[in-house]
Amino acid sequence: MNEYKPTIGLEIHIQLDTKTKLFCGCSSQFGEKPNTHICPVCLGLPGALPVLNEKAVEYGIKLGLTLNMKINKESTFYRKNYFYPDLPKGYQITQYTIPIASEGFLEIKTEKGKRKISIQRGHIEEDSGKSIHTGDITESTYSYIDFNRSGVPLMEIVTYPDIETAEEAYHFLVLLRKTVRYLGVSSGDMEKGALRCDVNVSLSKSNTMGTKVEIKNLNSFRSIRKALEYEIKRQTEMLKNGEKTIHETRHFDEKTGATKPMRTKEELNDYRYFPEPDLPPLLLNETFIEDIKNSLPELPVQKEERFIRQYSLSDAYAYEIASSIELADYFESIAKATGKPKEVANFLMGSIMKFLNETEKTISEIDFDEKKFIEFLSLLEKGIISKGIAKEVIVESLKTGKSPKKIVEDKGLIQITDENKIEEIVQQVLKENPEAVSRYLAGKTQVLGFLAGQVMKKTKGKANPQIANKLLTEALNKIKQ
Ligand code: ZN
Ligand code: MN
Repeated sequence: MNEYKPTIGLEIHIQLDTKTKLFCGCSSQFGEKPNTHICPVCLGLPGALPVLNEKAVEYGIKLGLTLNMKINKESTFYRKNYFYPDLPKGYQITQYTIPIASEGFLEIKTEKGKRKISIQRGHIEEDSGKSIHTGDITESTYSYIDFNRSGVPLMEIVTYPDIETAEEAYHFLVLLRKTVRYLGVSSGDMEKGALRCDVNVSLSKSNTMGTKVEIKNLNSFRSIRKALEYEIKRQTEMLKNGEKTIHETRHFDEKTGATKPMRTKEELNDYRYFPEPDLPPLLLNETFIEDIKNSLPELPVQKEERFIRQYSLSDAYAYEIASSIELADYFESIAKATGKPKEVANFLMGSIMKFLNETEKTISEIDFDEKKFIEFLSLLEKGIISKGIAKEVIVESLKTGKSPKKIVEDKGLIQITDENKIEEIVQQVLKENPEAVSRYLAGKTQVLGFLAGQVMKKTKGKANPQIANKLLTEALNKIKQ
């Protein structure tokens, strides 16, 4: 038992997926040639004036409402002053005293059950440019700055220190990412920097909070979980040995799985915040907020629960399928078209997912539509193909784009239901496996499975398994007599 209770808080920056930046008309597209999406506003040139992007506001409200937050009808922008080369204005425009959204929660589900994680605030702000450091310390080192990212809209979500385990933090982030993708407000891709997360953790025996340690450089949810686990262990050991933990920022090393102290650019947390004089307060009217509220889609957890109710899916399948909106939409359209949700879920979670994982494709990149699925299920139902062959047909269709029927015809995969043909093969198998036959006759009836397998092997999986089993049993019983 760990007598020290961890307290974890998260600060998440979510890039809002608007076409243009927060205060200018430059494209916010990721991955373009450096410094091609820039203008006087996002370069911070003197005299340039910011104009707020309405779409970013709408997305911020969407996310705020979904996280059960109060949307503030009047919020304000501030200047957060600090010096860094990728921040040409010398300040970041952000929200401070009154953010666009405050006081909410996200309910997560872990192995231990459901828990509401409280959220303190959600504010809109602009991103900085990106510094790229190259070279080696022994040779000349260069730093480059790409301002394409400068001014891209972000929503920063700050939780209360409400999270008690690394696992809860992980579940919170997974659900948050799913949620922003469902809403269509962000790609949530960590590798593209569209979702960035800083964590802070402290340990305490009592209700008074311990000393807070911040961890940065977390590139994946897995790293976050590992960094937290490491940090909880490190701090527990220190406290147990009577040592004191210090307030510091630590860096997570992916390779060693350890956290190390780091120097930060923000040693002094004095940002000299002051109201942004170039932007009026952000005033929202009730109708604007109501309209957004009414446009909110079904959310991941709701969808999952509905799939269980409506299509009798297992908890695990419903969770997996609802984990991505594309997968969920695909499932639902095919389930409706075929009227066979359970079969669709089985093949989707089986052969199709396996194919997607192997080829690193997404569901929207494959061509196995309603028409093909209906045709495929009908081949199976009519007994034209066996269950074993069905997997092969699906994979072949995914690979080539050919229709299931065409594949069955071209490759001669039609199930053999002709009893005479199967009988012939049964006799061959019995002849070739005298030892197995005598074991069966001696009462080891489980040998039947092996013999049936031989029949399937000889027919390349095409024999109808029920008929094969029936004929095998009949033949063996005959020998017995
Ligand atoms: Zn610009
Ligand atoms: Mn921020």
